[in-house]
Amino acid sequence: MQNHHVVITCPHCGLEKAEAMPTDACQFFYQCSGCGTVLKPKPGDCCVFCSYGSVACPPRQESQESQTGLEAAP
Ligand SMILES: [Zn+2]
Repeated sequence: MQNHHVVITCPHCGLEKAEAMPTDACQFFYQCSGCGTVLKPKPGDCCVFCSYGSVACPPRQESQESQTGLEAAP
């Protein structure tokens, strides 16, 4: 299994940290190593990578692609 590395930016202290993102699961909680705040996804986001990461999680990227295809249909 291949892991993607994502930079998570803490909205509280601004610390940026690279984390390995699992490709088959969403991570709901992430504790900042700088200030200790436990981050949770914003409303509408499925995981902390979508809310605070440099890229969205793979399941979400796939769903966005399929949604775009649906919206293009009449
Ligand atoms: Zn922090």
